[in-house]
Amino acid sequence: MTAFWTEDDFDDHEMVHIVRDRKSGLMAIIAVHSTHCGPGAGGTRFWHYPNPKDGLRDALRLSRGMSYKNAMAGLPMGGGKAVILADDARSKTPEMLAAFGDAVEQLGGRYVTAEDVGISEEDMVAVAKRTAHVSGLPVSGENAAGGDPGPFTSYGIYLGIKAAVRHKLGTDSMNGVHVAVQGTGSVGGGVARLLAKDGARLTLADIHADGVKALAAELDAAIVAPDEILTTACDVLSPNALGAILDDVSIAALNTQIVAGGANNQLARSHHGKVLSQRGILYAPDYVINAGGIISVATEYLARRDRKAGTVDAVNALIEQIPGRLDQIWQTSETSGASPDVVADRMAQDLIGRG
Ligand code: NAD
Repeated sequence: MTAFWTEDDFDDHEMVHIVRDRKSGLMAIIAVHSTHCGPGAGGTRFWHYPNPKDGLRDALRLSRGMSYKNAMAGLPMGGGKAVILADDARSKTPEMLAAFGDAVEQLGGRYVTAEDVGISEEDMVAVAKRTAHVSGLPVSGENAAGGDPGPFTSYGIYLGIKAAVRHKLGTDSMNGVHVAVQGTGSVGGGVARLLAKDGARLTLADIHADGVKALAAELDAAIVAPDEILTTACDVLSPNALGAILDDVSIAALNTQIVAGGANNQLARSHHGKVLSQRGILYAPDYVINAGGIISVATEYLARRDRKAGTVDAVNALIEQIPGRLDQIWQTSETSGASPDVVADRMAQDLIGRG
C-alpha cells in the first residue's frame, strides 16, 4: 500500500490506523480527520475493493466529509470513517466484527463507529460487545433516540426543500410545487411521503421498478424512467440515490430551479457547484441537508456516554436547525458571489479550526 501522505485525499488527517488481525482475517482502515469539535464520528463501510488503495482513499475522503458534516450539523463530534476491506468472497464473520470492535476500543474514544454501506444494525450490536464507542444500535424504548437513521435524514431533507422553495420561489406552501425525486429507497421514499402530505406534485424514478410503482400508487405520483429524472421539468430536483450525478453534461440538461436531496457527494467535481450557480439553480449542499441521520446517531451516542436519555424530540430539534443553516449559506453565497458548496466548505473549515 502506498504511504497515505502521498494520497491526494490526505488532508492532514489526525490519524490513519491500519488494522490487520490475522486470526479472523480482518483488514480495516480507520481514519480520523479531525477531533477539533469532538470524537471522530462516522460509519463503517464493508466493501470489496479490488485495490486496497481505493479503500484507503475512501476512508480519507469520507472521514474528511464527516468532519464537515458533523461541524455544520452543530454536533460536538469530529470526523472519522472506517472501511473494512472485504475479500473476494465478501465474508463477514463474528470473529472479524469482534476484532474490529477491539480495534475501535483501543483508540479510546477518538473514533466512534456506526453503520454504513454493507454494515447492518445486527453487525453494530456485535461490535458493541467489544467497544462502547459505537452508535446506531436498536432503539431502547419509546421516544428514545437511535435506530434507523433514514427517517431522520428524510425529515431534514424535507425541511431543507421547503427552505429552498421559500428562498428561491418565495412561497411557504408546497401545494402544487413539482418535486422530481431520484431514488425512492429509505431516504427518497421518506422525503416523497412527507412532501405528498403538503400537497406537492411528485415525479419519481428508481431502478427498482416494483418499489417505485407501489410508492407512486400510494402517493398519487407520476413515474419516469431512471434516465429521464434529471431532465424532468420541475421546480425541485431531489437526488436521493447516487453520488457524482451533477457534471457538465447533466447540469446543462437540468430543467429545475433547485437541487436539494440527500445523496452524498452529488457534485462530480468541485467546480460543478459553480456551474449550477451560473445556470441560476439553487443548490443545497448535500452534507448540510442530509445531516438528519448523523444527528440521530450522535444524539444516541452522546446520551448513552453521558448516561442521559437521548430522545427523538432532541434529535428533531437539532434537525429543525438545518433550514436556518441553509439560509445562512445561500445568503452568504449571494453577497459573496461564491457558490453555496464553497460557502459551506469555508464555514465547515472555520468550525473545525482549519479556516
Ligand atoms: P437506499 O438503498 O435505501 O435507496 C437508494 C435507492 O436508489 C434505491 O431504491 C435504489 O434502487 C435507487 N437507485 C439506485 N440507482 C438509481 C438510479 N440510477 N436511478 C434511480 N434510482 C436509483 O439508500 P438510502 O439510505 O435511501 O440512501 C440514499 C442516498 O442518501 C445515498 O447516497 C446515501 O449515501 C445518502 N444518505 C443516506 C443517509 C441515511 O440515513 N440512510 C444519510 C445521509 C446520506
